[in-house]
Amino acid sequence: MSLHRSHTCRKVRFRDHREAVSALHNVTTLRLLAEEAQQPSRRREVRCYECDACRGYHLTSVAA
Ligand SMILES: [Zn+2]
Repeated sequence: MSLHRSHTCRKVRFRDHREAVSALHNVTTLRLLAEEAQQPSRRREVRCYECDACRGYHLTSVAA
């Protein structure tokens, strides 16, 4: 799996829904998201969504 930085969104981008979902179970990816959000590592809900801007998928974390 490779991570891509979108020039449009400046977020970790995934090619498709499947890749985004698999990333949800990847500890390294979750840590990267935590750094991106500049939040201390703690339990939170993470979801993926399709982005209209770059036609890719992003992960978004929701504070529990
Ligand atoms: Zn995007």
